[in-house]
Amino acid sequence: MGNSSQFEVHDASILENARAILEKAGSAKDMADAVIRAVQRNEEWRGKRCINLLAPEAPTSPTVRQLLASEIGTRAAEGHIGRVNRWFAGTQYIDEVESLCVELLKKAFRCNYADHRLMGSMLGNMAVYHALVQPGDRVMSASQPFGGHSSNRPDGPAGTRGLEIYDIPYDPDELEVDLDKFTEEAQRIRPKLVVMGMSMTLFPLPVREMTSIITEWGGKFVFDGAHQAGLIAGGQFQDPLNEGAAILTGSAGKTFSGPQSGMIMWNDPSLTKPITEAIFPVLVATHQVNRVAALAVAAAEILEFGRVYMAQIVKNAQALGQALDSRGVPVLAAHRGYTRTHQVIANVRQFGGGLEVAHRLAEANIISNKNLIPGDTPADWDRPSGLRMGTIEVTRLGMMEQEMETIAEFMARVLVNGEDPELVRRDVEDFRLPMQDFYYNFDNGWPTAQEGG
Ligand SMILES: *Cc1c(COP(=O)(O)O)cnc(C)c1O
Repeated sequence: MGNSSQFEVHDASILENARAILEKAGSAKDMADAVIRAVQRNEEWRGKRCINLLAPEAPTSPTVRQLLASEIGTRAAEGHIGRVNRWFAGTQYIDEVESLCVELLKKAFRCNYADHRLMGSMLGNMAVYHALVQPGDRVMSASQPFGGHSSNRPDGPAGTRGLEIYDIPYDPDELEVDLDKFTEEAQRIRPKLVVMGMSMTLFPLPVREMTSIITEWGGKFVFDGAHQAGLIAGGQFQDPLNEGAAILTGSAGKTFSGPQSGMIMWNDPSLTKPITEAIFPVLVATHQVNRVAALAVAAAEILEFGRVYMAQIVKNAQALGQALDSRGVPVLAAHRGYTRTHQVIANVRQFGGGLEVAHRLAEANIISNKNLIPGDTPADWDRPSGLRMGTIEVTRLGMMEQEMETIAEFMARVLVNGEDPELVRRDVEDFRLPMQDFYYNFDNGWPTAQEGG
């Protein structure tokens, strides 16, 4: 049992509250019920009554959710697909599910190779750092204030490999890679890998240009497309593997709208052995076959609905950006049309900063996250100036550009007019409660405004 002097990385008071709940419970069954009630409260609130604008979140289709609870998820299937490759017998149907998943991923991403076993795209990136570089090698990646992600930085998987990690130079006004500076520094550093993993992602990246510079010394470009995977598969963003990237990693639960997990795709046969051997037996053993089945169906949904679904996500993000900006909430990259992805980034410094604003909006049932933006320094890490929003969930609920106006109006009432979030929350609930079905899937088809696709 913990006590107040025990070191915790978690919020100690929340852990203490959990202990109090367990102590008050009369039996282990009551303890289990306490867990279930918390899940139900989340479902009732986040699931039914909130406008979820978290950019890395996507609602799955009813079928995908159902598959996550399927019997196949209780089976163990280590190793590569096939009778001889597996340690266990009895895996013929599992092989069928997994091979369908692999082939569906290849179709969705128009590539030669894909792996289905990663339980997060963090692991996809780790596979890259395990397979393609050695301690002491040099890599270049984007830093966090410009949207980079810890996966590719000293504090994440890349850092655990003892690499020398350099920043990719960025233009803070255009929010894009400063190609001149990159060329200069890359030629000096001669990195083995250049990894673009953008958690804040508004515009396509110069994959072709950067690749052509680093191939001079055999450097490889890795596109960590955690956020953009669905947009890429749906043909609504750049196509990194076609533009020179050697490897594309992606999260299955962000724009791709499948079960939270990872995917990795490539074309070059010489990468197959190093990558797949980094996945098994290094990073995963049993890899959740229920999740693989769900991922396979999510890939089929993208094949059928992805083009229109992803296009609407982008249109909605642009509409939300415009609608917020015109109501006095400054949005980044206004001069470039705000965004070409699912994301919108606001500068909310004048309203108290990202942390404060995200929590105030959450009181009005509008869920977003604080975000570092250019100009923030390391001291701003916990209290950055930015607010990141994404339009995946609202789009899958069937919303169109017109509804983005409504959402921006709710936000402006809290931030610009200083209205009591509790009052705005009532209107948010009235708006949200009638919309409970997720579209762009085989269960519910197209939203009525897009009947027939
Ligand atoms: C979210 C994210 C990841 C991690 O993805 P998980 O699927 O949550 O493991 C990796 N890289 C980038 C750029 C991300 O935004």
